[in-house]
Amino acid sequence: MADTRKDSLACGRLTIDLAALADNWRSLAQRTGKTECGAAIKGDGYGTGLEKAAVALSQAGCRTFFTAVPQEGLRARAAAPDARVFVLAGLLPGAAESYRDGGLIPVLNCPAEVLEWSEFCASTGQKLPAALHLDTGMNRMGLDIDEARTIAQAPDVLTRFDLALVMSHLVCGGDPENPLNALQLERFHEMTALFPCVPRSLANSPGIFLGPDFHFDVARPGISLYGGRAMDEGENPMRPVVTAEARVLITHSARNGETVGYGAVETLRRNSRIAIVGIGYADGYHRLAGAGGGSDTAKVWINGHKVPLVGRVSMDLIAVDVTDVPERECLRGDWVEMFGPHIPVDEAAAAADTIGYEFLTGLGSRYARTYIGASDDRA
Ligand SMILES: *Cc1c(COP(=O)(O)O)cnc(C)c1O
Repeated sequence: MADTRKDSLACGRLTIDLAALADNWRSLAQRTGKTECGAAIKGDGYGTGLEKAAVALSQAGCRTFFTAVPQEGLRARAAAPDARVFVLAGLLPGAAESYRDGGLIPVLNCPAEVLEWSEFCASTGQKLPAALHLDTGMNRMGLDIDEARTIAQAPDVLTRFDLALVMSHLVCGGDPENPLNALQLERFHEMTALFPCVPRSLANSPGIFLGPDFHFDVARPGISLYGGRAMDEGENPMRPVVTAEARVLITHSARNGETVGYGAVETLRRNSRIAIVGIGYADGYHRLAGAGGGSDTAKVWINGHKVPLVGRVSMDLIAVDVTDVPERECLRGDWVEMFGPHIPVDEAAAAADTIGYEFLTGLGSRYARTYIGASDDRA
């Protein structure tokens, strides 16, 4: 990609393709058919920038956003004023008024939150919307079956607010063979029957791929929008959204038998040419992606060559084995793709024993960011 003034002093740059993001949303919305397709934009829009993501997704037609925490909710409201914004963290104690003023919809996760929202609505005389999270097996957030029954049998509590959505969350959606999927589905039917006629939501990205039985009224995809892998196996049909690149700072030779980097964890087996690239774990490029972690070392993409890291990832530097790359194709100042169209983010993450979600949300603050494909760019 073209070098620009803006990133000429940066050692790392991110290119975020908003057209790919919008395309991914449209293709998921097509899969869900009549089910409304929302979007999870928590974790700063999975690292892409919450406001940019919210604007691009609302221009594509998304009307419902799921944020993690209220601050994110307020940012989403400002970026997409016509959309509904749910806050998955629930209702923070004493914060009901701020939620109302900010136009945020809490996802009520326990009986105390339900009571607090209900009482707030009664005290103001406003029937404000909220979602109810039902726990079907994650054992993380949401009412269990007994709590759900108690709430359902307390109509004075429920009628004071507008129950806009009942939802639950899948534990193993990425693995279609896992029996927990069917069990959660069954429990979801059973629990939502306590709240007849209220719109239902179960599907995250994996839930969309599990098929129509899991779709209900509103889908809540996250990772698939941002190009990450939803299902554990098989091809990932989504377009990559984020390209992370870093610069070759220097190249040098090192001899067979020498070690590279901290801890001397990797010994060279031949005379080698090494490129030192200006990115490290301070940029969210995990230390375990290098040698000394459990898996193979990660690979990166330089001018058409896929080459492995060598030695440990440092805070600000990595070493890459470019022995097999012609010298003129790996020069000081060249850009190296850490992940993007040639190196799937999930492949890079797997080399660090983690998932694409963590690589995307962990992107550091030193990158020069460029957004491409915004729909107003074309105007
Ligand atoms: C993060 C999250 C989502 C989105 O999940 P993906 O796997 O990224 O699609 C949906 N619902 C809830 C409750 C979440 O926490």
